[in-house]
Order: sequence, then C-alpha cells, then structure tokens
Amino acid sequence: MKLNLALVKGDGIGPEIVDSTLRVLDKVAEKYGHQITCTELLAGGCAIDELGEPLPQATVDRCLESDSVLLGAVGGPKWDTLPGHLRPERALLGLRKALGLYANIRPAKLYPALRGRCPLRIEDTFDLVIVRELTGGIYFGERGRREGPNGQEAYDTECYSVMEIERIGRVAFETARKRRKKVTSIDKANVLESSRLWRETMHRLAAEYPDVEYSDMLVDNAAMQLVRNPAQFDVIVTSNMFGDILSDEASQLTGSIGMLPSASLGEGSRGMYEPIHGSAPDIAGRGIANPTATILSAAMMLRYSFGLAAEADAIEDAVNKALEAGYMTCDIGGQLTTDEMTDKILGFI
Ligand code: NAD
Repeated sequence: MKLNLALVKGDGIGPEIVDSTLRVLDKVAEKYGHQITCTELLAGGCAIDELGEPLPQATVDRCLESDSVLLGAVGGPKWDTLPGHLRPERALLGLRKALGLYANIRPAKLYPALRGRCPLRIEDTFDLVIVRELTGGIYFGERGRREGPNGQEAYDTECYSVMEIERIGRVAFETARKRRKKVTSIDKANVLESSRLWRETMHRLAAEYPDVEYSDMLVDNAAMQLVRNPAQFDVIVTSNMFGDILSDEASQLTGSIGMLPSASLGEGSRGMYEPIHGSAPDIAGRGIANPTATILSAAMMLRYSFGLAAEADAIEDAVNKALEAGYMTCDIGGQLTTDEMTDKILGFI
C-alpha cells in the first residue's frame, strides 16, 4: 500500500518524537511491504518564526492532499505572550476545522508493566477509549456578555443537533465493534435538554448495533466510576466538554502522559494523529522525551486511516514487550534516551 503522510513536527520535543516515530513506520513499511511518502510541514511556533503565522495556508492545503497527518506538538513559552489569534495552539484548531475532524479518540490504557505508576489502588489493569465530540457543544455555541438585574453577566450555550450526535455515536459503536463491544454514553440528562436529545439519539442508534452492549451514565457518576473501577469501561462516548474533562482524568490514571496517543477523525479516512502531551519545553533538545505516545499514535493511524490492523498490532505489541522487558524513559521510571527507547521498540517489531 502507498501511504502519503503529512508530517507536522511542531515545537519543543515535537521533532524528536516524530523522528523516532518515522523510524518505526519505516521498519513496519519494510516488513509488510508498504511505501511511505512524507511531506514535512510547518505549523505552530516554528511557523510563526519562519512565516509569521501559526498555520500557513500551504500547510492546510498539503494536509488536505495527504492521506493522513501525523503531528508532534506545538507551542512553548517563546510564543506565550502573543495575542490569541497568533498563538501556536491556533494551528491545532485550524487544522481540525480545515480537515473536518469531529471525533477525538483517546485511548487510556494501563500497561501491566506500569501498574505501579497508577495513582489508584486497583487490582486490574484497564484499557478504555474515550470518543469525544470535537466540533460542537458549548465550545462552539452562542456566547456573550450582557447587563442583567445584578450587573454584568456572561453566558455560553450548549447546542447539539441529532446529526452531530448520530455521527459521533456511530464512531463509538464502530470503535466498540473492533474492541470489547461495549459503549457507555455519558451525559447530564437529568438537567440538560441537550443531554436528553443526546440520550434519545444514542438509544435509537444502539438499536442498530445489537451486538454492542450499551448503557448511559450521568457525568458526575462517570467521574466517580473512572477512579473507582476504570476496568468497567470499554468505549465511552460523550460531548465536547465532558470529553475534555473525562479524558484528562482517565489519562492521569495511566500515570504516564508520555504514553498516550490520540486520533481525530472526520468523514472519510483521513485523520490527524498526535500524542496527548504538549511540546514539553522543559526537556526539549535533551534527547530524553518518551517517544511512545507518538509511536502509538502512528499505530492508530495505520489502524483507523489505512485499515492495517496487523501492522498496528505489531507496533502496539512491540511497545508492550519493550515495557515488559523493563525498557523505559525517565518519565515512566527508567533511564533510556528517546533514541534508545525507539531502538528497543524497533527490536520487537
Ligand atoms: P506538556 O504536556 O508539554 O508537559 C507537561 C509535563 O509532562 C512536562 O514536565 C513535560 O516534560 C512532561 N512530558 C510531556 N510529554 C512528555 C514526553 N513525551 N516524555 C517525557 N515527558 C513528557 O504540557 P505543558 O508543559 O502544559 O505545555 C507545554 C507547551 O505545549 C505549551 O505551550 C502548551 O500550550 C503546549 N501544548 C500543546 C499541545 C499539542 O500540541 N497538542 C497539547 C498540550 C500542550
């Protein structure tokens, strides 16, 4: 298969972890007979430095021509004082919008080798995925300030259409079909009308997926259940804001920000794949960043955008084996450098 990738290395540790990931992708391509072409593109702080804007139009255009986008991380203290529209983070929002990415998929998995880093005292490991709606809800609703009877007030509005709920629901049910076939939809249907429409729509959709076990949960209970027994979840589907909060909660349970990948998907097969962590300016340039989150993001890309399940499994198995053998970077309690960790993972492919 020919894979035409757009690479946005970004800032801080971005170039280091993307370079490691390319070594892994090259090895997989060689082993399974694929051809990978990469186009390097500027976005974030490095694009501001070179071209004066965080997301040059050329980057957007080339991403739209690619089969998929692999991103390192953007941002850093150097650009923190710039006005909002010039901040590196604008590049992420701009790319998501331009590529029509409405579903954010964030796995949170506790590897047996990292059990000691989980802040919970639990017997089981866990392996769950949060499917977060990314382009609707309160982040994009009507908002403003006005004069009220007690002086100035501010308001934000949560609005979801049946279409938006259905399409994110389908992503969740389809994801569950490739996993343990269980979906939990999280809402606040005891209070919010938008959540009541969310729940009604999910119920209707669940009837189309009789092979998937479905349940609803209120968000306050979900926040509690995640720390009480995360192993009960397989796929969680929820709105933009609840997903933002719950996915950060879940990621902390794995005890390792350097391990967690993510995918953002839209209509078609093109997606944007990136680690959940940022550009880690405190360790940039020292060669000690954990490349695993980005390497696992590439595995998600092979699985979701290209349907290459065996290749994705090969990467995920190699990561697991490297950890089981005790190979770790310093963020997860080891001493390996970025290159050494990459070498160990490559050795298991
Ligand atoms: P961060 O995720 O960059 O770092 C938080 C802590 O985790 C730091 O101590 C860092 O050293 C460590 N860390 C993160 N990734 C690591 C890795 N792969 N290996 C080892 N340690 C790792 O979050 P932050 O410090 O709040 O943000 C730094 C910059 O990144 C900011 O400019 C922020 O806006 C940006 N950011 C970008 C993204 C993105 O590009 N998607 C996401 C979050 C933050």
